[in-house]
Amino acid sequence: MKSLGAAEICALAKKAGFHKSEVISGKKVYEILACQHNAVFKHNLVQTVTSSFGDLSRPFTDCSLLVSALSCHRQEADDLSTADDPHTLVAPFARRNYYREAVKKMQKIARSIREQTGLPKQSLRIFCNSHVPEKLLGALSGLGFYGKNSLLICPGLGSRHVIAILLLPFSIDSEKEYKPPEVPGLQCGDCTACSDACPTRALRAPGKLDTKLCLQSLSTELIILPERFKTKWAYRLYGCESCQSVCPYNSGLSETTAVDSGAIGPSVSIATLLQLSLPEWKSYFKHTPMGLSWIHPYVLMRNTLLAAGNRKNKALLPYLLPYTRHENMVLRDAALWAKNMIGD
Ligand code: SF4
Ligand code: SF4
Repeated sequence: MKSLGAAEICALAKKAGFHKSEVISGKKVYEILACQHNAVFKHNLVQTVTSSFGDLSRPFTDCSLLVSALSCHRQEADDLSTADDPHTLVAPFARRNYYREAVKKMQKIARSIREQTGLPKQSLRIFCNSHVPEKLLGALSGLGFYGKNSLLICPGLGSRHVIAILLLPFSIDSEKEYKPPEVPGLQCGDCTACSDACPTRALRAPGKLDTKLCLQSLSTELIILPERFKTKWAYRLYGCESCQSVCPYNSGLSETTAVDSGAIGPSVSIATLLQLSLPEWKSYFKHTPMGLSWIHPYVLMRNTLLAAGNRKNKALLPYLLPYTRHENMVLRDAALWAKNMIGD
């Protein structure tokens, strides 16, 4: 079998359209994790990494990982609302299906590696937006570092990227010096822009995100939001950008990715969404990042209703009133709150 080195594999990733890539062996991942002084933390990390890849035909230490980042930055307006047609907003990473694009690119790389090595198809595995700890592996491989906002920051791409991982069934020795991930925020200096901008104070300490307070996490949970969060929700449909839009590492970005798959754009008409039936809703979001099986359409409906309330536009009342009688209590609650916010 012809063997491939890290440089050759990274070159394939670049050719496929990834903006940044690193290759790290499974053995190295464990060695770096073993440097962690906190035994419980170390155990948890090793467990997370090991179990997240599922059953492997060979030990993880005999495998390698290609860790690649794809930019999801694009210069575009964030809100296409008009006075008569207020919109609900989509965070940049979810405006197009960058995850699917990243998987397509990884499939291309996997094909090329198979052609060169003769490896069987099932021996290479792709992970993207999965249970694999992508940020951790990005930090371990040297692709980027943790910011105080708990996100992986890749120089030149900021935090505006998606990560994809290709598990390779062979070990690659690299000359590169790997270091344990730095303490989150070490490269942020005195900056506190992300925690200052967070509307719910979810960033408790550098790198410490309280997911119970984070609007990004809550945007996929079918629960009645606490009253104090409903106004802070603002116009969001999916995702929260507040801690990223202020980050200096995200300013002046130039790398972009041409993706049309699953394009939904920066904002969607609230009136249009509230008129959709459940099957129409599902087909509207099909193939977009919001069409994933673990995001219940009711969650997106709740988000739209909260955005409607915060828009305080009377033109939206006829569209949200039917939801005040909805069988689902989360939607009823959001609709009644929105009606109250808009007033009669
Ligand atoms: S995603 Fe939003 S809510 Fe979550 S930490 Fe960032 S700014 Fe705060
Ligand atoms: S906003 Fe500032 S503190 Fe937060 S991640 Fe970016 S550089 Fe770090």
